[in-house]
Amino acid sequence: MWCTGFSQVPTIDSFVMSASAKPTISTAAVPLRVLVVEDEPAIRDIVATALRHHGHSIAECSDGLTGLDQARGGEFDLIVLDVMLPGIDGHEVCRQLRLAGVATPVLFLSARDAESDRIKGFVSGADDYLTKPFSIEELSLRVAAILRRSTGVAAVNDPVVVGDLSLDPIGREVRIAGELVDLSPTEFRLLHYFMTNQGIVLSKSQILMNVWDDDFDGSENVVELYVGYLRRKIDDRMTRLIHTQRGVGYVMREPTA
Ligand code: CA
Repeated sequence: MWCTGFSQVPTIDSFVMSASAKPTISTAAVPLRVLVVEDEPAIRDIVATALRHHGHSIAECSDGLTGLDQARGGEFDLIVLDVMLPGIDGHEVCRQLRLAGVATPVLFLSARDAESDRIKGFVSGADDYLTKPFSIEELSLRVAAILRRSTGVAAVNDPVVVGDLSLDPIGREVRIAGELVDLSPTEFRLLHYFMTNQGIVLSKSQILMNVWDDDFDGSENVVELYVGYLRRKIDDRMTRLIHTQRGVGYVMREPTA
């Protein structure tokens, strides 16, 4: 059984720089420390790679006792914990951590989907539960949600979701119900701005100021033009999200059932 320490990861700045010639996303998010306890190497690799992709530092373990030992140090922001582990299982690891007063958020990974298993997970002190097989997108969204709840802030590089629409700022991907949508860089920035301000009415000048470069000297008509492009690519394919507030601007609202 083994455990690795934090691996060297590229900083978010260097990642964004190498991923696109013109970095347009703020890089203020602080990389977090995540412990991944999973005995299946393929799944451990996928989880670690996905979290590194979001700029986090990863330590990895392959059994329950080593995981408990590492996690007791309390130096992590999140623990991704498999349920079925050699040594002691994930539920027991989590229970002992909580008994020891370690409050680090825990996301369980499990092949089980029975309600009784999920309840057992939450009783042992889990913050969320992810059933295998899971998509990288769902993993990223759940990790972002846990970190947002525990830190109270949304990191600028966190994936965001509104209804069936999801946006990953680092992977620069937009999906509707899992299906990729092709957006220009300006459309992408505009959509990200709407999604991170959902429910808030945004004036055209506010949008212009936050989405376009400072040296852009065009009129607010460009906002109308790009909202039109987004509506054709996004709203025409799902329940309408971008609403016009006559005389004011626009607001993105989650569709109500
Ligand atoms: Ca396992």
